[in-house]
Amino acid sequence: MTDPDVNLLGLPRRELEAFFVGVGEKPYRARQLMKWLYGRGVLDPARMTDLGADLRRELLARASIRLPAILDVQESADGTAKWRLDAGAGQAIETVFIPEPGRGTLCVSSQVGCAMDCSFCATGRQGFNRNLTAGDIVAQVALARQELGDPQGRSPITNVVFMGMGEPLANFRAVVQACHVLVDDLACKLSRRRVTVSTSGLVPQIRRLAEEARVALAVSLHAPDDALRSDLVPINRRHPIAELLGACWDYVDATNTREITFEYVMLDGVNDSPAHAQRLAGLLRHRPAKVNLIPFNPFQGTGYRRSAPAAVEAFRGILAEAGIVTVTRRTRGDDIAAACGQLAGQVANRVRVPLGDRLQETTWSS
Ligand code: SAH
Ligand code: SF4
Repeated sequence: MTDPDVNLLGLPRRELEAFFVGVGEKPYRARQLMKWLYGRGVLDPARMTDLGADLRRELLARASIRLPAILDVQESADGTAKWRLDAGAGQAIETVFIPEPGRGTLCVSSQVGCAMDCSFCATGRQGFNRNLTAGDIVAQVALARQELGDPQGRSPITNVVFMGMGEPLANFRAVVQACHVLVDDLACKLSRRRVTVSTSGLVPQIRRLAEEARVALAVSLHAPDDALRSDLVPINRRHPIAELLGACWDYVDATNTREITFEYVMLDGVNDSPAHAQRLAGLLRHRPAKVNLIPFNPFQGTGYRRSAPAAVEAFRGILAEAGIVTVTRRTRGDDIAAACGQLAGQVANRVRVPLGDRLQETTWSS
């Protein structure tokens, strides 16, 4: 009945309760286990003294509690840390920790590679291999917590963002499950405002997310008109800007979140002119929106260049003038290729996914 491959680390409370009931135990065992896993950071059942020897044996027989092996860790001059983690079958994913005064953001991966094929993204250039499981996602958080330690008795991870490798909404079920663990008071205890899913614009899944997880939403817009956006973010051909923005405003209403964050990568001579800024302002003015301008992070083989700082500043000024809160994201960790869009991991045996199928997660999860 129980899958021996199941990683207890990824199971939300209710499923963990069902797991214990399935092995003839009371549901409250789930709480006991969660206190060990997340409260005390103890992953070895042998040390879970209140579970009893028989139950511990049963646990080990029926399931596992697994962290991925660390293949490599790099620390940037600015304190950013990047782990390369074994994703099996000769592949790797990457997880990045970004410390800032008063907060620490962990950037997690949701897939090995990405099928969305955005033209300016190193992950997209690599192609797609497989979806991560909820366990693979939560394990990135557990592992970073372990590696970073709890210096003041509190985890240095205050925010989790799905901005590593992969399109999180193309791996919907696993990402929602992981979100449930991240916000659970017995697990990672993050408020739903401090968990951000970033998407290239999968409209049906944005609507489902409003029903199933209600976390903060970031949308990779990158262009103010459909012709340009379809060039940069191919999924725009399926879900153009007007449809995407409609889903965004509905998301705010349905979830009572403050706003949507729109990400906009600044590509020299492509999408960074004052006219682009004016058009973007026209789309977002008087809406629950803020804008993050991301200086393009180059990678080997790309034909794009980063916009000049003056162009970024002029662009920001036009949006600010229209009353839109706009920040230019500081580039962090680019000396270790840990900045936005530079994560490449290792993707073997890419799976080719036609555009029309990219929304059907079941047709291409491994
Ligand atoms: N797949 C999701 C989340 C991961 S990417 C998404 O696309 O939203 C996180 C952010 O980095 C996205 O806004 C993405 O568009 C941006 N990005 C991708 N490649 C980049 C690059 N080379 N330079 C700067 N930002 C990049
Ligand atoms: Fe995938 Fe996001 Fe990169 Fe596009 S920008 S290819 S959706 S990871």
